[in-house]
Amino acid sequence: MFLELKQEIEQQYNATLIAVSKTQLTEKIKSLYDNGQRHFGENKVQELLDKKEQLPKDIYWHAIGHLQSNKVKYIVPFIHLIHSVDSFNLLKTIEKEAEKINRKISILLQIHIADEDTKFGLNKNELIDLLEHVTAQKEHFAHIEICGLMGMATFTDDENKIEQEMQGLQNLFLFIKNTYFPFEENFKEISMGMSSDYKIALKSGSSMIRIGSLLFGNRY
Ligand SMILES: *Cc1c(COP(=O)(O)O)cnc(C)c1O
Repeated sequence: MFLELKQEIEQQYNATLIAVSKTQLTEKIKSLYDNGQRHFGENKVQELLDKKEQLPKDIYWHAIGHLQSNKVKYIVPFIHLIHSVDSFNLLKTIEKEAEKINRKISILLQIHIADEDTKFGLNKNELIDLLEHVTAQKEHFAHIEICGLMGMATFTDDENKIEQEMQGLQNLFLFIKNTYFPFEENFKEISMGMSSDYKIALKSGSSMIRIGSLLFGNRY
């Protein structure tokens, strides 16, 4: 399952597979690592820190869950990419902590695309507002690299609905790229697609697929 999935995502579609290892045992994570997997995603900071200690140092860790400002300082020294930046305040905190250790942090802005209240993220107006603020004072965000957008589609069997939401995110990405990042090569990521909807995501231009249960089986 793993190798086929990895090949489909990485060879056929040139996207990155992120193995979402939340709640999984380190032995299972290590076994994917031994099969060549290097990108892993976690949604809780404490769990991420614990696993990082126990696992090989060359893993690229992705923070994919809602992030509280007071936890930012624990992950900035090593995190590869923060997918879930959903407010200007959080962005400012990341900048502040990154500046302290003089490291540039790559982030994605999380966009609300589902019609569920429970999923975090910015709407289009909030996104534009945030980017206007950032571009107007670029020198104050010298330790942040905005690399793209992240989103989660509605959890539903209705594939048309999922496809519409994902294509909406792709269109928004293209608009934002043209408007705010026309010359920034690093603004190139669309993180969308999970176990249940990754095929639709690949067809809708996703560049990062976050898969948990399909790889690891059910969560504990
Ligand atoms: C848990 C989680 C995933 C993976 O979900 P699966 O359905 O297990 O593939 C992806 N993205 C986020 C943000 C998650 O919290």
